[in-house]
Amino acid sequence: MYKGNIILISPPGGGKGTLSNQLKEKYGYTLIAAGDLLRAEKKSESEIGQKIKNLIGKGNLVPDELINQIIQREIYKSPEPYILDGFPRTLGQGEFLDTIADVNLVIYLEVSDETIQKRILNRGKTSGREDDQSVEIIKRRILQFKLDTFPLIEFYKKKKILAYLNGEESIKEVFSQVENILRIWS
Ligand code: AMP
Repeated sequence: MYKGNIILISPPGGGKGTLSNQLKEKYGYTLIAAGDLLRAEKKSESEIGQKIKNLIGKGNLVPDELINQIIQREIYKSPEPYILDGFPRTLGQGEFLDTIADVNLVIYLEVSDETIQKRILNRGKTSGREDDQSVEIIKRRILQFKLDTFPLIEFYKKKKILAYLNGEESIKEVFSQVENILRIWS
């Protein structure tokens, strides 16, 4: 059974949050969710919070140096094993992560553009998130994923630590497939 740290990658609305919470419940992983950390910064109205306010709300990524620093701080204070949800999202972030952490499993949940749009608009009814409300912002987030995160997925594929899953399946099915991966991963 794989007992190390995990990176979860999916397009926005791809099911990372749901899956990481299930893994936390059943196996006790620590959760490190980049979007949650950034929203907390934004809310605190710190200097960083002011800087990133407009970026997050409009569906743009915050600069690598900034999120790298926030994640590094969080990793150093989190008990292992942990799940990184929403980090890294760019090749630069992935290369930075290699210098501060040991991760040997990256789970990529693939979901179609249509499903993403449907799921996020639905989540937007209750999430209160500005970036979940408009089709235009959702489209920008999907495009950002293709431009910035596809090269990162290739990076992990080459390292042979990428496990690919169909994120269109039911929540139950995805979880059971993840458990199978954990069982066979070394
Ligand atoms: P999420 O909750 O993962 O959907 O993230 C919400 C927003 O936070 C994203 O649309 C970005 O603006 C920002 N964000 C989250 N993770 C990252 C990251 N790794 N790098 C840059 N920006 C990020």
